[in-house]
Amino acid sequence: MTDGYRMARYSEETVFEIGADTTVIPASDLVPKGLGRELRLPDLTEAEVVRHFVRLSQMNYCVDTGFYPLGSCTMKYTPRALEASAALPGFADLHPEQPQSTVQGALALMWELERMLAEIGGMRAVTLQPAAGSHGEYTGMLLVRAYHASRGDGRDQVLVPDTAHGTNPATAAMAGYEVVEVPSNDAGRVDLEALGSAVSDRTAAIMLTNPNTLGIFEEDVRTIAKTVHSAGGLLYYDGANLNAIMGYTKPGAMGFDVVHFNLHKTFATPHGGGGPGAGPVGVVERLEPFLPVPRIAREGGRFSLDSERPQTIGKVQSFYGNFLVLVRAYAYIRMQGAGLKGVSERAVLNANYLAARLSRVLPMPFGPLRKHEFVLSGEPLKEKGVRALDVAKRLGDYGFHAPTTYFPLLVPEALMIEPTETEDKATLDAFAEAIETIVNEDPELLHGAPHNVAPRVDEVKAAKMMALTWDLAMAE
Ligand SMILES: *Cc1c(COP(=O)(O)O)cnc(C)c1O
Repeated sequence: MTDGYRMARYSEETVFEIGADTTVIPASDLVPKGLGRELRLPDLTEAEVVRHFVRLSQMNYCVDTGFYPLGSCTMKYTPRALEASAALPGFADLHPEQPQSTVQGALALMWELERMLAEIGGMRAVTLQPAAGSHGEYTGMLLVRAYHASRGDGRDQVLVPDTAHGTNPATAAMAGYEVVEVPSNDAGRVDLEALGSAVSDRTAAIMLTNPNTLGIFEEDVRTIAKTVHSAGGLLYYDGANLNAIMGYTKPGAMGFDVVHFNLHKTFATPHGGGGPGAGPVGVVERLEPFLPVPRIAREGGRFSLDSERPQTIGKVQSFYGNFLVLVRAYAYIRMQGAGLKGVSERAVLNANYLAARLSRVLPMPFGPLRKHEFVLSGEPLKEKGVRALDVAKRLGDYGFHAPTTYFPLLVPEALMIEPTETEDKATLDAFAEAIETIVNEDPELLHGAPHNVAPRVDEVKAAKMMALTWDLAMAE
């Protein structure tokens, strides 16, 4: 099966090594003196260039080469039809300053996508501007702040459960709030008693990741909503991983006031890799006046951009957001039709199938049932000197990407696994077999892993002494 990773064994010379002769293009006369530089290009044939870049592309592990169980990142396969939609010249070649009369189709797509997301989230209105999930969180917190300020209410705290995604407390702090951590109970859910004592007239909002980072749905979500609302606080829903609940329930139905969506997770376009994302934000009626401008307006069949919103928090991103990610999400939702529920069904089924199999190999703290992801603990392996990191690294030798490790912090030696709905049973079985084999392997073999792919780097040095060059001599 997934042999992609193994192909990374070969090394690839740089273009300067492949093309020994160099063509020098002198600095242009048009550039002011001192600013221009001559350009040195290696002499290569077209075939050499194409083969070089194709080989480089194959040195990377990606969703197109194999299973990528990175928990909380939803690395699902993206149907090619979405790439084809985003590449249509009518979308791909737009200029953001084009007259509105010439971009009616693009505005219509955005207008419709806003309404689809509002329906999925149970919200009144949606902004497509934020460029990432965490950016959506920040936008959401600015909306919360603007709402309280408009009422002359100076609330200064945000409640964040300890099972929240790491970006939640970071966002609340960035928005100027004091973060109050709410502990979880033995079931891995919000401790209602602790919530009761944390909430007060200083509470601006609670930020809830649901299902939380343990993959557990907050069953008491209605009580949580009531508790925070009756103290005058708002409810923020981290909907990055909506593929766990889509079609079954909605943040709006649970009592939430603000939600962000990660289009680059839930609605295809795998997360990470440095590519663009989109983190639209949905709100209930009382927060609508504060949404970022411009808003997309429709009058009859005509669409326009409306910036006349006196209470707006302003712009949070240049132009209107990452448009081509919006196109992919739109196409994804349209392709599923009424079948978004099926997406959640398969994501949850896959996670629970794998969880049932692997919890016989490693403990899975906090109860059995999961939504779209689950967390195993590598703690028992420590006895023979093996860490979660060793298991993760060794998976590379079996042709799999590593799961998320050491997160959430609540689980010691955490291995956080999210299979997504796009994987078939054969792939899940092969992954489970690889883990079953690895936990019984010689610890020495694991410490040195991976053996068949790029060697393990010194993680501290890699983060602290980045050498972003192909030339190892230069990096020294
Ligand atoms: C990925 C994720 C985020 C952050 O999204 P980015 O696009 O990476 O900023 C926030 N919350 C949860 C639960 C996530 O999984």
